[in-house]
Amino acid sequence: MKLRILPALAGLVMACLPAPGANSSFARAAEPLRLHLRGRAPVTANGDQFQVAASEVEWDPAKTAIIVCDMWNQHWCRGATERVAEMAPRMNEVLKAARSRGVLVIHCPSDTMKFYQDAPQRRLARQAPPVELKPLAAGWCPLGGGQEPPLPFDNSKDRCDCTPQCPHGHPWKRQIDALEIADEDAITDNAEAIYLMRQRGIDRVIVMGVHANICVLRRPFAVRQLLAQGQQVVVMRDLTDSMHDSASPPAGLDHFRATERIVEHIEKYWCPTITSQDFLGGAAFEFREDPRPHVVLLIGEDEYQTDRTLPAFADAELADRGLRVTVIRSDPRDPNDFAGLEALDAADVLLVSVRRRTPPQAQLDRIRAFVAAGKPLAGIRTASHAFSLRNDQPPPAGHAAWPEFDAQVLGGHYVGHHDAPGLGKPRTLVSVLPGKLDHPILAGAPQGEIAVGSSLYKTSPLAPSAVALVMGRVEGQEPAEPAAWTNATSSGGRVFYTSLGHPEDFKSPFFRQLLLNGIFWALDKPTLK
Ligand SMILES: [Zn+2]
Repeated sequence: MKLRILPALAGLVMACLPAPGANSSFARAAEPLRLHLRGRAPVTANGDQFQVAASEVEWDPAKTAIIVCDMWNQHWCRGATERVAEMAPRMNEVLKAARSRGVLVIHCPSDTMKFYQDAPQRRLARQAPPVELKPLAAGWCPLGGGQEPPLPFDNSKDRCDCTPQCPHGHPWKRQIDALEIADEDAITDNAEAIYLMRQRGIDRVIVMGVHANICVLRRPFAVRQLLAQGQQVVVMRDLTDSMHDSASPPAGLDHFRATERIVEHIEKYWCPTITSQDFLGGAAFEFREDPRPHVVLLIGEDEYQTDRTLPAFADAELADRGLRVTVIRSDPRDPNDFAGLEALDAADVLLVSVRRRTPPQAQLDRIRAFVAAGKPLAGIRTASHAFSLRNDQPPPAGHAAWPEFDAQVLGGHYVGHHDAPGLGKPRTLVSVLPGKLDHPILAGAPQGEIAVGSSLYKTSPLAPSAVALVMGRVEGQEPAEPAAWTNATSSGGRVFYTSLGHPEDFKSPFFRQLLLNGIFWALDKPTLK
């Protein structure tokens, strides 16, 4: 029997079928969210030391919600109000991108429900049938029972970072207008958010908004509560802020470092974090007022584990010395791709640990532009052959190489390396050049030779513009090779390079001090204690 379709129905059936060539958009609608999580895992039994753990997950957009926490139109603190206004446009772009992919957006501007009482988005939240919540439900969620030490700074007096102090009050009336509320969004300031997620089978949540040390953790729709109800939770760390008073302990903590400290606390004791880059690409959001020098770590090599050692070094040695750190790793699926390199445009120093990668032309152009602008740069180990392929092979189409990077920027002459030190093999020994001990990069360096973990690179002769500081040799062999030096690019940029950088070197106080001093020297600043 022949199937007959009524003309009126035919149109309907056709509308349900993918149009020719529309397969890609169908595929996109079902595409998972790819999130780059940053967490911190304890590395000691008593849980007092942590290491950064990066991972990638795929979340089904239909099972994901975004909580927008307390992005009010006005706060009692003038500075807090300004920072919310500054991050709102980027957040709005994230919400648009997430919504278009099927994520439920729940706006939670606490204490302002009166303003929204007749809004359909408010009704959407109210209609969700209540479910029984696990304990920890009532009101503000307290500190986690035994699992969470005190926050990294004291804000118990609820003071702000302004001079003079802003007067307390409740000036918030609604959410800031820069965040659009779409028809399909929801509005609530209580556990209805959880009821709504339960109603829709949503079991994972992205939390953003303010303030990371108060409401983002404690509200009845926020991190502690969501986790208590069994949701998977991540915080968007570049779209949050803290309430911090520089006058409270610990003394002298910068506002933006304080927010980072809270984020680290969340990563240690509560949940991983992501950045807005997972929805929008480009550089992560940063506040204009952040006064800290900005170091970008560019990491792409498989020999020396610097994707682990360098971020840990930055955590331990750079962040609390007043530097803002951005880590850019090559994509494991496409080792030539350094997503997020846009951050370089606002960077003060670039640290390169890359080996034989040929980035897309636009990315390498960005690095060239940074160097051409006379900005400072530091390089370790494989940076001498960062952007060149063996035997001058050409890069793949659309990609670019920079074989002269070593000679032109670092001032080196890498042509290979000696055998690696190890059991039964001669050691690699390095020592400060006589007469250079008073160089600021060598402050704290020991006299005499010390053994290092790296095999010795053949790096001579250096460019005339380079100044050798540390020499290395293979035990019992000649000749010695420069192992650390400074250079000046033709654009006047200050450059520090060391051929060391083996994982063992990162355990050496000599190497750590050398790298630390080298970065501060490149920035033309004294190394902070
Ligand atoms: Zn204030």
